[in-house]
Amino acid sequence: MNARLDPRSAADAARSPATDLLDVVVVGAGISGIGAAWHLATQSPGTRFLVLESKDTFGGTWVTHRYPGIRSDSDLYTFGYRFKPWMGTPIATAAEILKYMGEVIEDAGLGERIRYRHAIERASWSSADRCWTLDVHRLDTGERLQIATRFLWMCQGYYRHQGGYTPQWPGMDTFGGRIVHPQDWPEDFDTTGQRVVVIGSGATAATLVPALAGRCAHVTMLQRSPTWFVTGRNANVLADTLRELDLPPEWIHEIVRRKILFDQKTLHARAFSDPDGLGADLLANVRAHVGDAVDVDRHFTPRYKPWRQRIAFIPDADLFKAIRDRQASVITDEIERFTETGLLLKSGETLEADVIVTATGFELSVLGDIPFEVDGRPLEFSATVGWRGAMFTGVPNLVWVFGYFRASWTLRVDLLGDFVCRLLAHMRERGAEVVTPALRPEEADMPLRPWVDPENFSPGYLARGGDRLPRTGDRGPWRHSQDYAFDKDDLPAADLDDGSLKYT
Ligand SMILES: Cc1cc2nc3c(=O)[nH]c(=O)nc-3n(C[C@H](O)[C@H](O)[C@H](O)COP(=O)(O)OP(=O)(O)OC[C@H]3O[C@@H](n4cnc5c(N)ncnc54)[C@H](O)[C@@H]3O)c2cc1C
Repeated sequence: MNARLDPRSAADAARSPATDLLDVVVVGAGISGIGAAWHLATQSPGTRFLVLESKDTFGGTWVTHRYPGIRSDSDLYTFGYRFKPWMGTPIATAAEILKYMGEVIEDAGLGERIRYRHAIERASWSSADRCWTLDVHRLDTGERLQIATRFLWMCQGYYRHQGGYTPQWPGMDTFGGRIVHPQDWPEDFDTTGQRVVVIGSGATAATLVPALAGRCAHVTMLQRSPTWFVTGRNANVLADTLRELDLPPEWIHEIVRRKILFDQKTLHARAFSDPDGLGADLLANVRAHVGDAVDVDRHFTPRYKPWRQRIAFIPDADLFKAIRDRQASVITDEIERFTETGLLLKSGETLEADVIVTATGFELSVLGDIPFEVDGRPLEFSATVGWRGAMFTGVPNLVWVFGYFRASWTLRVDLLGDFVCRLLAHMRERGAEVVTPALRPEEADMPLRPWVDPENFSPGYLARGGDRLPRTGDRGPWRHSQDYAFDKDDLPAADLDDGSLKYT
C-alpha cells in the first residue's frame, strides 16, 4: 500500500493533510479512535494516518455527557484498553476516563496525529483513484478542505452527539419549570432545593438520581417500566489482593480482565439457562438494599428477562441507598401530559416538579450520519451486509468499530485494532490497494437478518432506528455475533483469503 504513496514521513504527512493521500483516516477521537490510533502507531509503524475529530478535544462520549455523577457502567479493567493497565476503582468518572485516554495519547505520541475541529461532512469513494475523499469542515477557521485516504476507520460511535432523544408529550410547552436532557446538561445548573423528576430508569437515570439526591429537595425516578439492576462495591478484591502482592500492573490488568470476562460469561450463560433464578437473585439483592422503602415487585421487577438490555450496575448501591434514605423515590407509571407545575400521570396521580430531566436515551447515528458515496452513487448502509460486523458488502476499504452492548465496548476496539493492522499487512503482502467484502455465489440467497436480533437485545435507540443499520447473514463471516467470547477467537483466526473479501 505504501508504495503508491508520497514518500514523505508520517510526521510530514500529518502536518499537511490536505494535499497528500494518507494510508488511513480514523474518524473520531473517542475511546475507539484513540485505540485505533494506538494500534496503527504501534502495530503498523510507517502507516501514514490522521485522526479527524469534530470536537475541540478527545474523549467523545466522556466529554459530551456532563451531567452530575457521570461515570462508566462497565468496569475500567475491560472498558480500558488491553495495553494500558487501569489503576483506579473499577467504575470510573468521566474525568478519570479522560485522564486515562490523555495518558495513552501522551505515551504513544498520538497528539500530532489528531486534528480537532475537523468535521467530516461527506465521504466519496472513487474506484478509479482507489481512495476515499473526505469533505472536511474546519470548525475553527470555517475552511472547507478535502482529505484523501486509502482506508477509512470509522470510530464515530453509535449515537448523535448533537442531542439526545426526547419524546414529545402533550403540554410540554406549558410546563413552567425547566426541561433538561442529560446529554445537554447546562453548565453550572444548580438543582439545590428543587423538586426534580427524572424520566427513565436506564443507566443514565440510575447515575443521575443518586448524584442529585441530597442536593435537591427531592428526586423522583419516573419509569414506564422497571430495569434490572445489579449492585456491588466499587472495588475489585482480586485487583487489590494482587496489588498487595506487588505484581506488575500489566499482570494485574490482564488477570483481572480475564476474571471479569469469565464472571460475565457465567452470568450471561445463566441469564439464558436460568433467567428466573437469576431474576430472583437480582430482586433479592434490591430488597436487601431498599428495605421497606419501596414496593420491589411493582418498581424493580422488569417485564423482560435479565440481559435483554444491559443490566445496569449500581456501584455501592448508591441508587438504593438514596431511596432507602427517602431522598429519592420511584414511580412506575406513564405520562398523560405535562402541566404547568409538573406531570399528570395516566393513573391520575400528579407529580409536582421544578425540573424534569428526560433521561430517555439517544438517537442512533449510523456511521456518523455522514453521506457516503461509492463511485458517485449514494450508499445506503441498510442495503449492505456486514462482514463480521466490521466491514460491509460493496463498501471498499472501510471498517466500523461497533463495540459490545453487554460487554465493554472497548474490548472490540482492541480486537479490531489487531484485525485492521493484520488486514493492512496482508494487503501490502498481496500488493493490493483495495479490499471489498462481497457475498460468494453460494451466499447470494442467504436469509438476511437485522444487525441486532431484537429478541436478543432491544434498547430504544435500536428499536427506533435499527432499520438504518446494515444487515447480517446467518453463516460464516456475515454473522455479527455481538459476543466477545466468540469474536476473540474468531477475528484473529479469520481467513482473509476465503473469497469473502475481494482484493484489487
Ligand atoms: C453516558 C454513557 C455512558 C456509557 N458507559 C459505557 C460503559 O460504561 N461501558 C461501555 O462499554 N459503554 C458505555 N457507553 C457506550 C459508549 O458510548 C461507548 O462505550 C464508547 O465510549 C464509545 O466510544 P467511541 O469512541 O466508539 O464513540 P464516541 O464516544 O461516541 O466518540 C465518537 C467521536 O467521533 C466524533 N465524530 C462523530 N462524527 C464525526 C464526524 N462526522 N467528523 C468528525 N468527528 C466525528 C465525535 O465527535 C466523537 O468525539 C456509554 C455511553 C454513554 C452515552
